[in-house]
Amino acid sequence: MKLSFHGAAQSVTGSCHLLEAGGLRILVDCGLFQGAKHTDEENSDDFGFDPSEIDYLLLTHAHLDHCGRIPLLVKRGFAGKIITTAATRELTKLILIDSAHIQEEDAMRASRHKRRGGHKDIRPLYDQIDVLFALDFFGPNVDYEQDVALNDAVTVRFINAGHILGSASVVVEAVENETTRRIVFSGDLGSPNHPILSNATTPPECDYVVMETTYGGRMHKDREASNAELTQVIANTVARGGNVVIPTFAMERAQEVLFHLKYAIESKDLPESLAIFLDSPMAISATEIYRRHAGCFSPEVRDLMLAGKHPFHPRGLRFTRQVAESTAINRMRGGAVIMAGSGMCTGGRVRHHLKHNIWRPECSVVFVGFAAEGTLARQIVDGAKSIRISGEPIQVKAHIHTINGFSAHADQRELLYWVSHTGRPKTVFLVHGDYDRGMSDMKNKLEKKGLTVQCPTLHSAVELD
Ligand code: ZN
Repeated sequence: MKLSFHGAAQSVTGSCHLLEAGGLRILVDCGLFQGAKHTDEENSDDFGFDPSEIDYLLLTHAHLDHCGRIPLLVKRGFAGKIITTAATRELTKLILIDSAHIQEEDAMRASRHKRRGGHKDIRPLYDQIDVLFALDFFGPNVDYEQDVALNDAVTVRFINAGHILGSASVVVEAVENETTRRIVFSGDLGSPNHPILSNATTPPECDYVVMETTYGGRMHKDREASNAELTQVIANTVARGGNVVIPTFAMERAQEVLFHLKYAIESKDLPESLAIFLDSPMAISATEIYRRHAGCFSPEVRDLMLAGKHPFHPRGLRFTRQVAESTAINRMRGGAVIMAGSGMCTGGRVRHHLKHNIWRPECSVVFVGFAAEGTLARQIVDGAKSIRISGEPIQVKAHIHTINGFSAHADQRELLYWVSHTGRPKTVFLVHGDYDRGMSDMKNKLEKKGLTVQCPTLHSAVELD
């Protein structure tokens, strides 16, 4: 039995782990490297294994850093089966098509520059046709808690990870030399206080654990306080006669904010006259997928859905898919909440909303997600007095707010609670974290409890037992 690590090894992106057990080669996730300087090279590098030899890919959830290299895996020879939940499969389709589209556009832009210098065209990592081809490799969907036999020796079970819609941890049981070993891969874990999803299922006792540590060194702010802060910012802005721009991630954060706005309007903390725009075709499609999976939600949200109500549809909400509808929002001087992508303001429609609102002192811009170094979102969060959009300098006069309590990840205490259910594993492997931030903290905490902990490096391998 052998485990090797081909992504998210002492870093937070590119999740990809290979388990060789019971005569099978099983990959858990195949994510894109994102955010750092050398990600193009990392993404196009060898996987560290031969894709044509992989029998199964178990996909924990639809975030790009977990599913984003699947089309490349198929291009390079993967011919096995991809196993995941129904919701993850639907969201993955949306995410991969969008990712291919962005890569095609980036490659086209880069090629124009290169051609001027007489260089060859730049090719995208994969295009939309590659994505359609890759989608054919998805096998039958699995339900949470369902045992799926991959062969006589290996059984897998997906359990709810409470992170985003459809997300799972994966429990693998493999028999070798008449000994059964149980290994759990956490995937990304959500916080038990998530307002819309049902809580993560606690894992069973295991021999080995592979656990994420995104926030292994941090405690989250209280979510209630964050909701109250968001309500207050919107109420104050509307009273001043301005608009609120919320740069929005398409999955999870958008639906969570919509759910909160519905609650705030119904409890009269926000005016019924509030105009709310979800101005992102991707977030609109994701919201429609969310509506189709009542079974994944907290009892409160599930009951609403089963009663025919739409928990992500506050009064005054308009979906604006068309470009003309999006530009028409610019005519609104006040009383609107405008949710648009991209979440880090690196592209997308949010940039034209910033252009029309960020120079006006009566308006607000509210960040509810992570803003990576080098992005426009980070410049604004860091207090830039002036920004450039499409080459045009724009003064920042609007009120800028960062509300941090909406994380989809478990914090340190929640991760420790989750792993405590695995009993006395022989080794806990920590992945999906920066070593100097969350991971080393988590390692110390677990070692104090007497556990053996490893923080694998990229492409390293361990024999189990
Ligand atoms: Zn995730």
